[in-house]
Amino acid sequence: MTRTTTGIRRTKRLARFGLGIAAAIVVVGSAAVPGVLAQTLPIQVAPPQTSPAQSTNAATAVTTGETTLPLTLQVTEGPYYKTGSPETNNLVQDGMRGTQITITGQVLDQSGVPVANALLDFWQANANGAYDNTGYTLRGHQYTDANGYYTLTTVVPGIYPGRTEHIHVKVQAPNSTLVTSQLFFPGVSQNTRDGIYDASLLLNVTDNGDGTLSGAFNFVVPTA
Ligand code: FE
Repeated sequence: MTRTTTGIRRTKRLARFGLGIAAAIVVVGSAAVPGVLAQTLPIQVAPPQTSPAQSTNAATAVTTGETTLPLTLQVTEGPYYKTGSPETNNLVQDGMRGTQITITGQVLDQSGVPVANALLDFWQANANGAYDNTGYTLRGHQYTDANGYYTLTTVVPGIYPGRTEHIHVKVQAPNSTLVTSQLFFPGVSQNTRDGIYDASLLLNVTDNGDGTLSGAFNFVVPTA
């Protein structure tokens, strides 16, 4: 019995000791958690610290209607613009070389509101990199519809000395400033060697899988 009693007491003591260790681990553990959090907090808190400024801007835009979208970058007109282009949204002619692309998008003001009846005047080189400077091949103007949409069917222009693939355009909201710019194509190695190229003017191009491409680009223009 003694042995048994002693054994029980020893077991109880060991159990208490064990609980004590467990409690100690819990205490140490809970003490360690804030330490760990404190170490990680600066990283976790960093994004919220930058957001108040952003939300302040957003709030300002909502309450005042101030500008939010950056204007489409203006770049040089180049030497080949001609006034008097025909009104058309299809520049493709029978037998024309090159990959056909249909570009769609909207003309927007800086608040993102579509601009109806905005002028778009496109001109470009053919697939060989040559402009028609005597006639109006691959030149045409059009106006956005009631929801600010335009569509241009054309061919991918070729490169010519010093220039990557690009389509020239002039865009103008009714009774506002004329914006002169150019559109570029993604994945063209010459882009980075072209001093006029800017990534903000890249078309979003998708392959239709039937030998033609689709492109998308929204213009943001001044309306006053
Ligand atoms: Fe050009």
